[in-house]
Amino acid sequence: MTSRYDLVVIGGGIHGAGIAQAAAAGGFSVLVLEQHGLASGTSSRSSKLIHGGLRYLESGQMALVRECLHERELLLKIAPDLIQRQPFYIPIYSNTTRRPAQLRLGLSLYALLGGASSIVDKAVRFRRVPRSEWDELDDLETNDLEAVFEYWDGQTDDAALTRAVMRSAQALGAHLQMPATFTGAQLNEEGCSVSYQHNGQIFTCETTVLVNASGPWVNHVLAHITPAPLQLPIELVQGTHLVVSGTITHGIYYVEAPKDQRAVFVMPWQGNTLVGTTETLYKGDPAAVQPLLHEQAYLLQTLTHYFPAYRQSPEILSAFVGLRVLPVGEGKAFSRPRETILHVDRQDYPRVLTVYGGKLTAYRLTAERVIQRLITTLPDRAIRADTRTLILSS
Ligand SMILES: Cc1cc2nc3c(=O)[nH]c(=O)nc-3n(C[C@H](O)[C@H](O)[C@H](O)COP(=O)(O)OP(=O)(O)OC[C@H]3O[C@@H](n4cnc5c(N)ncnc54)[C@H](O)[C@@H]3O)c2cc1C
Repeated sequence: MTSRYDLVVIGGGIHGAGIAQAAAAGGFSVLVLEQHGLASGTSSRSSKLIHGGLRYLESGQMALVRECLHERELLLKIAPDLIQRQPFYIPIYSNTTRRPAQLRLGLSLYALLGGASSIVDKAVRFRRVPRSEWDELDDLETNDLEAVFEYWDGQTDDAALTRAVMRSAQALGAHLQMPATFTGAQLNEEGCSVSYQHNGQIFTCETTVLVNASGPWVNHVLAHITPAPLQLPIELVQGTHLVVSGTITHGIYYVEAPKDQRAVFVMPWQGNTLVGTTETLYKGDPAAVQPLLHEQAYLLQTLTHYFPAYRQSPEILSAFVGLRVLPVGEGKAFSRPRETILHVDRQDYPRVLTVYGGKLTAYRLTAERVIQRLITTLPDRAIRADTRTLILSS
């Protein structure tokens, strides 16, 4: 007998896991198909920050920042084993483009958008670090240093978070098929017939709605649905990180790359130092993306510029690269909107919903919005849980 689900979700990244959790919490039956392993795509290759995105204030994305900060606070409560608050340091040198007054304004706005804790709680309020404390900052370059600001955001292990969300979904009854590659779907009046490959065999199942949460593969997946839903034009932008030996322990540094003044993070990561990221347009197969030599040189130049201790031949332990999914648009990727787009095959009773883009930080909210967007098509079910209170553990 062919299995039937309320939702089939393609992709076991943070969005697929989050949507499975929200669906199961809403009482719906759900199957997730993941071709390789949980978080094997972008969700293990992010900067691992649970944050509002201070830099998005520069491009006026207030709503996104406010939402992400709200989610940060919630996730700190429900996933205390997986997300830690970290101090972030922004050094300002005589030639840094963002000046102290500008930074103070940005951080004040960030604190306001972040809600009560960022304003009232003295331990996590932003401040200007007194000169007497500069030598505690991981040997940060102090030549020409004018000011250092400290503020607080979150850090996580993105892959571990994804696995925890999927475990929570499974505890509520979600099914996971892995490795299982979606191969095609046929839309019909009742929903959709889905085919996938598992252990060398093709299986089929029926679903009321199909959710395409396949990250950089979104349009590839849409092209395998009949009749083919419209695809949004997108660009893939690769972001490389380096893991370098040696430790940064005090917090996360948010510095301006000397080459182009982009924001780059230098942070503690599993006993070493993580430096990222880049933004390079990518046109090939998502599975074949690789860190490029010029990206590694750019990140090393930034690291050694601010941390002289790394100038003695730093040892690169590994490099990883993730792909951002951005709507085609004008200007540099850096300033393009980072809103998540939920695209449906038809407005009234959607049968296919595609998640374009998104933030690790906002995965829970995105997942709840996906379920809301599909509510007209989904059957009535009794709610089982609330994702705002489900505890996630490592
Ligand atoms: C460089 C970089 C840094 C980032 N840093 C941050 C950050 O610090 N904080 C933050 O909040 N956000 C960050 N983001 C954004 C965040 O990481 C992504 O939005 C998020 O991880 C995307 O998750 P996803 O589930 O949509 O995609 P993915 O994690 O890519 O998951 C898609 C999954 O679909 C599977 N799949 C694809 N095709 C098929 C198929 N045919 N059948 C079955 N499975 C399939 C893939 O194997 C993959 O596992 C960053 C993004 C990038 C690129």
